[in-house]
Amino acid sequence: MKIGCPKEIKPQEFRVGMTPNAAMEAVAHGHEVLIETGAGVGAGFPDADYVAAGARIIGTAAEVFATADMIVKVKEPQAGERKMLREGQLLFTYLHLAPDPEQTHDLLASGCTAIAYETVTDRSGGLPLLAPMSEVAGRLAPQVGAWTLQKANGGRGVLMGGVPGVGPARVLVLGGGVVGTHAARIAAGMGADVTVLDRSLPRLRYLDDVFGGLFKTGYSSAGLLAELLPQADMVVGAVLIPGAAAPKLITRKQLGVMKPGSVLVDVAIDQGGCFETSRATTHQDPIYEVDGIMHYCVANMPGAVARTSTLALGNATMPFMLALADKGWKRACAEDPHLLAGLNVHAGQLTYAAVGEALGIAT
Ligand code: NAD
Repeated sequence: MKIGCPKEIKPQEFRVGMTPNAAMEAVAHGHEVLIETGAGVGAGFPDADYVAAGARIIGTAAEVFATADMIVKVKEPQAGERKMLREGQLLFTYLHLAPDPEQTHDLLASGCTAIAYETVTDRSGGLPLLAPMSEVAGRLAPQVGAWTLQKANGGRGVLMGGVPGVGPARVLVLGGGVVGTHAARIAAGMGADVTVLDRSLPRLRYLDDVFGGLFKTGYSSAGLLAELLPQADMVVGAVLIPGAAAPKLITRKQLGVMKPGSVLVDVAIDQGGCFETSRATTHQDPIYEVDGIMHYCVANMPGAVARTSTLALGNATMPFMLALADKGWKRACAEDPHLLAGLNVHAGQLTYAAVGEALGIAT
């Protein structure tokens, strides 16, 4: 199969759909890999790395789209890219179609077969191609929160780990899923005093079993939050209710009980955010202040560490990419119900019920 990887063109997107190692594996499986010139540069992979891996460098995205049987990307195809997709071509990337009718209609019109990273499942009911980005965002959250806590950035001037004789920062993590667990681990590793709140008792039991001693756990309720909020130096928002907007767990009024210069890091901002005062920000202008409380609400946090994110995503997508290339999408999906769960569009037909419901299109 000819596998094509164009350069990402969405603004501020530095990741790339295939790492040189993924290209090398695909070549070893007998496939031809076509990489657009400069596709990996933002993630620190020059063209020479792909050439060394056995891939061919192609001058333009148009040539990649025209030649490849399967396109492997990171972000949803932009309008210009969608025009280049064709009937029978396979697209493997993040799509997030539910809030995006324009993209959905274009993909349907193209006749391509599109498998969305975000709906591929695994045996434990997880989302294996979303998890690496949650791991990245979770681990990044205390890092950006610590920076925001610095005086020059509007924070209250508290060091995460304290020093001998001076206590550490207090970090409250709302949601103990993938993001929350990784945030808690890193914050605790920086020496902070960390508490994780979740609504799922099985999850709290798991966290206690695995991380007992590293951080505390609590059952998430308005009462406990009200008790802990005045003490917190940093709150990380990491809740998710699948298929729904994030619940607003901290109101504007409650900012008044927090210490001036404390920091809210709202990782759940891509689902609307879990603080009433959250609004999406960018890496160029990531923080703002409301009522004396600093907010960090970047919606695509993994983009800040494009190299790590590309490698993490590549590790997760590689087995699926190889199965699709080796077997073709029909047999690969017939043999793996988890990959089949990723099928969103095929030959002008929407094949993912939740997207159909959201957009009022028959599936
Ligand atoms: P997850 O499903 O693994 O974890 C969510 C957790 O929230 C679950 O354990 C759930 O029990 C808990 N929860 C639900 N309601 C709660 C409540 N009221 N109080 C406390 N806990 C509650 O999800 P995840 O992968 O950790 O993702 C968390 C959020 O981070 C999602 O909104 C996701 O889209 C977002 N995210 C954002 C970025 C970014 O760049 N900003 C990157 C990755 C993920």
